[in-house]
This record gives sequence, C-alpha cells and structure tokens, in this order.
Amino acid sequence: MDPRITYELSKLDPAIPFRASTSHLHHTWAKTFFSIPELYIQPESVAEIQKLVTLARRCGRRIVTVGSCHSPSDLTCTSSWVVNLDNFRRVLDIDKQTGLITVEAGIRVRDLGLELEKHGLTLPNLGSIDDQSIAGVISTGTHGSSLRYGLLSDAVRAISIVLANGQVVRCNATNNPILFRAALISLGAIGIISEITIQAVPSFKIAWHQSLQPLSHILENWSSGLWTSSEYVRVWWMPYLERAIVWRADKTDLPVQPPPKNFYGERLGYHIYHNLLYLSNYFPRILPWVEWFVFGMQYGFKPGAVVTEAVEPGRTGLLMNCLYSQFVNEWAIPLEKGPEAITRLSAWLNGDEKTAQIPFSSKGLWVHCPIEVRVSDTSKRTDPRPLLDPTCASGPTLFLNATLYRPYLRDPPCIDRYYEGFEWLMRDLGGRPHWAKNFTDAIGQKELRQMYGADLDEFLRVRNASDLDGMFLGEWHLRNLIPDPSSQEEEKELIEKDEDSSAEQPDRSTFPLGERETERRKLGVRGTGDGVEWIGDRAWLATTASGADISAGGKEKDNASIPASSSSPASPPMTAASEESFDHLAHGEASVVTLPPPSV
Ligand SMILES: Cc1cc2nc3c(=O)[nH]c(=O)nc-3n(C[C@H](O)[C@H](O)[C@H](O)COP(=O)(O)OP(=O)(O)OC[C@H]3O[C@@H](n4cnc5c(N)ncnc54)[C@H](O)[C@@H]3O)c2cc1C
Repeated sequence: MDPRITYELSKLDPAIPFRASTSHLHHTWAKTFFSIPELYIQPESVAEIQKLVTLARRCGRRIVTVGSCHSPSDLTCTSSWVVNLDNFRRVLDIDKQTGLITVEAGIRVRDLGLELEKHGLTLPNLGSIDDQSIAGVISTGTHGSSLRYGLLSDAVRAISIVLANGQVVRCNATNNPILFRAALISLGAIGIISEITIQAVPSFKIAWHQSLQPLSHILENWSSGLWTSSEYVRVWWMPYLERAIVWRADKTDLPVQPPPKNFYGERLGYHIYHNLLYLSNYFPRILPWVEWFVFGMQYGFKPGAVVTEAVEPGRTGLLMNCLYSQFVNEWAIPLEKGPEAITRLSAWLNGDEKTAQIPFSSKGLWVHCPIEVRVSDTSKRTDPRPLLDPTCASGPTLFLNATLYRPYLRDPPCIDRYYEGFEWLMRDLGGRPHWAKNFTDAIGQKELRQMYGADLDEFLRVRNASDLDGMFLGEWHLRNLIPDPSSQEEEKELIEKDEDSSAEQPDRSTFPLGERETERRKLGVRGTGDGVEWIGDRAWLATTASGADISAGGKEKDNASIPASSSSPASPPMTAASEESFDHLAHGEASVVTLPPPSV
C-alpha cells in the first residue's frame, strides 16, 4: 500500500477497521470494461465509510462506490479506490403497519426481497433482474415495465448519504429536498449512499401469460389496451420476423404454478443459441434465420399458436433470463411516439430507408433481437422528481432497448452502425438515454445539457457544493455532466439565454480529484474476450501531500517527504472552501454524525 495511505491511516482511529485489499480486478457484469483499482474497500459500518472518505480526502484519491457492477458502461471504472457495500447490507427497520423499511444501502435486491417476504412485504415493481444493490438501482434510474409505476426509486422515501467531508446527511421530500432530488439518481457523483428508506407493499403473486403476435397487431393496439389491460406488460420485438412477444401479468390469489421449460432456459438450447450468435459474428447475414429458429423454438413458429403461462410470487415472476454478456443502449421517449419509433426502426433494419428517415445506411447491417419495449409512468409521482430523471414528466414513457449480445464475450461487428442509427432516431423523437447503459460518446455533455436544461445545472450545483474537489467524479461524469472548458463561451451563452439556470458551472479542469482516463486497451487476457481495460490518470502520483512535484518517473521520492506536510494531525481538506459548502448542505438536516478526532 502507498506509504502515504499507511501514514494517514495511522492518524485515524485504529478501533474503526479499514478493510482494504490491493489486488482486485474490477469489471462490469458483462465484462465489457475492466479496471484495476489501487484499493478495493468493503466497509461494514457507517463509521468505516466515514473513515475511508476521510482517508481518501487526505490522500487525494477518487472514490467509486459500486453495488453489483451491473451498469454496462464505464461508469464504475477507476484506477483509484473502489468501495463496495456488499458487507453493509442489513435490514435496519421494518414497520409492518406502514410498510416503511430502512436498509443499509449495499443490500442486493434479491436479499431484500427474501427478507421482506418473511414479513409479508415486497417491492412494488422490479426490473429484469434482482442481482443489483438497492443503492445501485436507485442511482441509475432503473425501471421495470408497468404504466402503474414509475422508476424503482419512486418507492424511496429517504436517503442517508456520506458526503466528501465525512458527514452523514439524511434527506427526504421535505428535509433537504434538493439534495434528495439529486441523490435519487446520483450516478455515484454526490457521495456514498449509506441508508435508504423504502415504501414496501404487501407481498403478492402474479399470474402471467405470453404469446407471439404480429407487429402490426401490436401497433394497432398501442393506444387501445396494449399497455393498460394488465398491471405489468412488456414486449420483446423481433425486427426481422416483424413479430413480438407480449408478456402480461396481473396480481392473483391463484396457487403457484411454475413456468414450463423453455428452449434457451435449458442447457442445450442455451448453448445452441450462444453458438449461433458466435457464428453470426463471422456471418452476420444468418441473423434473421437465427431469429426465426431460436424464437420459434422458444415461443412457437406461428403467432398465437403457443400461450405460455405461470403463477409466481411477484418477487421472482417479474424477472427474466438475460442470457449472455451484452451491450444495451436504452432510451426513454414519450409513449405516444412508440408506433413511429418502431415503424421507422423496423423499416431501417429491413432496408426501407425511405420510410425510416434515418440518415445512415443500414445496408449490410444485421442485428440481434429482441429489442426490448417497456413502459413506465412517472408523471403521477407526488414526491419531487429526481433531477436526472430521464422519463417524461408530463405523461407515460416508452423505453426502447437495443440489445447486442457478446457471444463468448466477443463484440458483434454491427455495434457502431446500429447504435449510430438507433441513437439518431431516439434523439429525433425527443429521447433521453438510460444513464447506466451503453449510449455512445456521440451524446456528451453539451447534448445532455440540452436534454436536461436547468435540472442538470441544479444537480451540478448540489453536487459541486458537496464535493468541490471532485472526490466522486470520474471520466464518465466529466464527459457527460461537467462542462468542457473549451466550450465555456458557448455554455455561457446558453446559460444567459436560459433564465431558469442558476449560474455558470465549474468546468472539467476545476476538480483536483476528478479522475481522467489516460488509456483504454483490449485486456487480451484469457477469459476476458474483447473486454477493455480502462486506465485512469493516477493523479496522486504527480504530487506529494504538500502539492510539491515528485520525480518524473511518477513515484514518490521517499517516505520522508510525507510527514513534512502532515505535522498537524488533522489534514485540511483539499480545498479550503469545502468545509463551508458542506455546512451549507448540512444545514437543516435530520442527523449529522461527526467523526471522532483522529488519534495521533
Ligand atoms: C443483466 C442486466 C439487466 C438489467 N436490467 C435492467 C432493467 O430491467 N431496468 C433497468 O432500468 N436497468 C437494468 N439494468 C441496469 C442496472 O439495473 C443498473 O445498472 C444498476 O445501477 C445496477 O446496480 P448495481 O448495484 O450493479 O450498481 P453499480 O453498477 O455497481 O453502480 C451503478 C451506479 O450507482 C452508484 N452507486 C452504487 N452504489 C452506491 C452507493 N451506495 N452510493 C452512491 N452511489 C452508488 C455507482 O457509483 C454507479 O454510478 C440491468 C443491467 C444488467 C447487467
């Protein structure tokens, strides 16, 4: 471990453990991105979280908090410190009368569901999987598919968050509401969420059924019951067959009836499909045939011929099998634009560029299926909305998710062209990308600023006030959220025109701890396929604790330089003004836990 860390650690309370490892390979679930953090830290209490934040501040390190690393993009990559809350996962309080529960933020959605079940409770809605941490789910705006619900974070009633100065701030709709709105979708950029209070509901079973339907039928019924005739509805669209599976579920008291076996849910079908996808990486034009064969085996070869049904607890029945490693590019657009979006995308993928009106050629482009079609409605939300909520505020939202599998972790050849055309269409229809997924660098801060306007400014104002030095900022945030200094002039003009906008934002150059990417390269290690290694700038190597330059080789000269800057036991924060802004945020909070003085 870096001697500077060891030295600063020696000044903090030894009774509070610092559980850190120096050999961890971080990667996303899909193994799309890998990075090697300097430290991997797994705290087990709030005091441990506060201690590691204090240590990071004194050592000039960036912190990335992760749950299960299911976010598909490079959002969680770092060469600095990864903090994982898998061992900070207790259920702290369950009020059976009100259904209000409070949990430590690292608890996985599956474990929370099992705990709640013991008390006759459950979460009202789920996404496709339950492997994520509850903090991860809310931090990226994860959603399921139902017009009766909004985002999963709509059930969150209060959040406690450890800020860059080590303070714990609790916020909700009435207490520190602006911090609450920022923390509801924070992308890890505000602090470490430590506790979450959620409104659970009485546990329920669902009866679901699914069948294959022609796409024309889906489009005809779009506004006349497709999305409203059941509580939960989702659609998997097969672009070459021009058909889709419609899955519907409603709450029921019927006895549990497990789902029947299915083709790729069994070992043989799973491997057949995987190998066909692998083959298509070399012969992409077989993909329409693969779609016909695999989905015929799975759902029947003729529309309406097979109806599959089951009765399951909501906790498991709402989930689905996501199969193989994948890229996912999902956008939120107004629900009423769905038929146009699907008609144009379908035309583009099937070579009718005139109907598609997408200014990129789709000649020779072959893609995977299904394209996921899901919905939510956040417009009825009574609590304040998350500042970075990508869904529509004035009506129901449609999510279109362009999935591309990575068979045996190998990237498909069509990705750049597919996503170029898909994103163009989504932007044309007023869409906004899912924060956690693989939207391309073509979007960037300037366009996201146009999509979010004053809400992004407000998010940055809260973020910057609570973390002036950028302890929670990495390349992903700098690229997508923080203004670029070279376009500051343009930004200023934009801000002047926008009367709602609060003020000019600090640019990317103003965060000493903000981590920049220096390189990404194919890892090339057995078992990592086309996975990319993400390498950060390790900016701390360039300065000692006193800020003096060190040897050009990037290594500290010797340990003797360290105590010189550390004669006072309590190191100051990197930026003097930080303390003031934290006080500003702490004002009016329900509880503030301060660190005990460090033992020297
Ligand atoms: C197979 C698969 C299926 C999926 N299905 C859906 C779906 O149905 N609907 C949908 O909307 N999305 C879906 N996703 C996306 C997924 O829900 C999100 O990426 C979610 O954020 C993952 O949670 P996590 O615990 O893995 O968080 P991570 O990926 O580890 O982190 C996500 C973000 O949350 C931050 N974060 C995590 N913990 C904390 C904390 N304690 N404090 C502060 N910040 C924190 C991280 O810094 C990061 O910015 C899916 C992803 C996969 C791989």
